[in-house]
Amino acid sequence: MSTRASQYAARVERREELSAHLVRLTLAVDPAFASTGIPDEWVGLVVPGQFQSRYYTVRSYVEGVLVLDVVLHDVGLVTEWVVRDDCVGSTVTITEAKGSFDPPSGAAWLLLVGDLTGLPAMARIAETTALPTRMWAEVADPLPGYLPGTVDVTWLESPPGTSRLAEVVEAIEWPPGEGYFWMAGESAQMRAIRKHLMRDRKLPATAYDVMGYWRSSSGRQPRAVDPGPIWREGKAQGLSDEQIWARYDEARS
Ligand SMILES: Cc1cc2nc3c(=O)[nH]c(=O)nc-3n(C[C@H](O)[C@H](O)[C@H](O)COP(=O)(O)OP(=O)(O)OC[C@H]3O[C@@H](n4cnc5c(N)ncnc54)[C@H](O)[C@@H]3O)c2cc1C
Repeated sequence: MSTRASQYAARVERREELSAHLVRLTLAVDPAFASTGIPDEWVGLVVPGQFQSRYYTVRSYVEGVLVLDVVLHDVGLVTEWVVRDDCVGSTVTITEAKGSFDPPSGAAWLLLVGDLTGLPAMARIAETTALPTRMWAEVADPLPGYLPGTVDVTWLESPPGTSRLAEVVEAIEWPPGEGYFWMAGESAQMRAIRKHLMRDRKLPATAYDVMGYWRSSSGRQPRAVDPGPIWREGKAQGLSDEQIWARYDEARS
């Protein structure tokens, strides 16, 4: 079995500042690219002059037009490229889309929690679900109009360079009945929350999806590990998304 993801060329057509920390890129992508339709789907992005990819949520994809919302932080391979004027017009590589959001058929509600890196997926999930949705979004600056008005959202101020989402989630009052919890953001916070959901709330793995999207550089530096092969190998072995993300975390620590 091949573990190499399909790759597609894409041209950056437009760059818009949505806030001081969020930039929207509109790309014209090779028509062979296909969306999975899963609302938290992501692609790998390889920017010019680099071979390492970084992962970005497909904010939208319609007929060859791919939109990615990129968080700006202090340093970073993509961060430093996206702020340059010559980013527009450049050709990048996109890998095939993968998605993970998979609520059980009996779910009666959704809880979505994330920092700014998780917000593109949270917005797309909220735009496409019929389920009543509550959201907690940890952001550095206001983003009016980014989320659909139908969503009950609690905005939280993000501490610079890190996140406090674990303590927020531990204090959430859980709705009654069966639902689905989706969360993405800083990896150490996500590890704490997986433990909380398993040990304290005793949720089955099908009731939640918790993904580490980035690592705070305070503390021990993670090893650079490409999640693509781990994802594909896990899927080929029939592992759940939870088990695959746990493997990814293990490989990086
Ligand atoms: C499935 C998935 C979907 C994702 N979707 C998105 C998305 O839609 N939009 C988005 O912007 N990101 C998204 N991310 C997160 C993104 O891939 C990482 O933040 C990535 O590290 C950014 O790359 P970079 O080249 O800018 O920084 P890197 O070169 O990877 O990192 C440089 C330094 O910046 C720090 N850093 C990295 N990310 C952040 C951050 N967000 N805040 C503060 N410090 C940070 C690192 O600790 C490191 O010290 C997603 C990640 C995954 C796994």
